[in-house]
Amino acid sequence: MRTLSILGSTGSIGTQTLDIVRKSDGKLKVCAIAGGSNISLLEKQAREFLPKLVCVGDDSLKDDLQIALNDTDIKVVSGKEGLTDVAVFEDADTVVTAIVGMMGIIPTINAIKAGKDIALANKETLVTAGHIIMPLAKEHNISILPVDSEHSAIFQCIQGEKASQIHKLIITASGGPFRGFTKDELKDVTLEQALNHPNWSMGKKITIDSATMVNKGLEVIEARWLYDITVDNIEVTVHPQSIVHSMVEFNDGSIKAQLGVPDMRHPIQYALFYPDRYDFGLEYLDFSKISSLDFEKPDTDVFEGLKMAYDSSLKGGNMPVIFNAANEFAVAKFLAGRIKFVEIYETIRKAIDNIGFIENPDIDEVLATEQAVYELLGKNN
Ligand code: NDP
Ligand code: MG
Repeated sequence: MRTLSILGSTGSIGTQTLDIVRKSDGKLKVCAIAGGSNISLLEKQAREFLPKLVCVGDDSLKDDLQIALNDTDIKVVSGKEGLTDVAVFEDADTVVTAIVGMMGIIPTINAIKAGKDIALANKETLVTAGHIIMPLAKEHNISILPVDSEHSAIFQCIQGEKASQIHKLIITASGGPFRGFTKDELKDVTLEQALNHPNWSMGKKITIDSATMVNKGLEVIEARWLYDITVDNIEVTVHPQSIVHSMVEFNDGSIKAQLGVPDMRHPIQYALFYPDRYDFGLEYLDFSKISSLDFEKPDTDVFEGLKMAYDSSLKGGNMPVIFNAANEFAVAKFLAGRIKFVEIYETIRKAIDNIGFIENPDIDEVLATEQAVYELLGKNN
């Protein structure tokens, strides 16, 4: 039985993780959960799953949650410290990182140091601090189990294979709601259109990242760290049906692919039960309903974020931090209705052109780079 701490239990990945717990018939136990500000859902989850510890990110809501759970023995904590308390909670053997953005770095590092396996959804952590996280995981002999569907697909394809015989990783992308758009057409797209993903229902930040294809860029860098391969050997192919979740090509030219319906509970389940597989009543793929599986080259002239991600990974150092932090900043502004869609790319470009390069940033320098990006972009805004 795996025992879980879930960072971001009230979000898209968090609630789907809890659904797997619900279906798992006692094979998983929830020990601690953390959310941001949705205390009514946190209370509901606490009453259903009976963790010993609950964290609310917003300090000002701690008392309200405490009062709501007064008739229980559940301990309530809050803020960044509380998030780390959940990440290192002693009863848990595995931490599901389902929070968004670079705020995942510190709790993930602490969880690894505390000997927890990581079921990793929070890709921004690996994108910006992969050079610190991966060696740390090795040192502490813990597993990083990918939750992202593409990385889960690759993980499934490489079982029983030799890393030295991998020729290429092929990551699939749906193309998002603006697939086939020209640069001109992209200029006037709205927030509502950008949030309308054709295949997946996800949190808002990743939904916008999918529309810009920055998400695919982040995934390429995430794969670079998870599978210790340079981005030159990672290809992105647009596959609008989101049935083939990714592929691995081997030295002999043979390719393995992992297929399934687009439902994040599949990769979440694989991460939590690896290497076992169970039938928890999730949908099976019905080939009689599939008329075609299409693949096409991504248009990196229009979706510049994908190219910027490759370039920042090849440059290395703190460049992926600059890329990611600027994107987080820009997406928050786009979601707030304060910039246009294409200004997300312009914002990232501005940060890449203006922030100082650091060859091998330690964790303080990673966080200082994030701060520098926010200061640069925050000016005049
Ligand atoms: P959501 O926005 O749906 O969820 C984010 C979660 O983080 C919520 O539970 C939110 O709480 C919580 N949170 C926010 N602030 C804090 C805080 N200060 N302390 C503790 N918790 C906090 O995001 P997703 O589930 O979509 O994405 C999570 C991660 O997984 C991202 O890195 C994303 O890229 C990755 N991912 C997501 C996929 C998906 O299908 N959604 C697919 C693959 C990867 P509250 O609800 O209270 O705001
Ligand atoms: Mg993905």
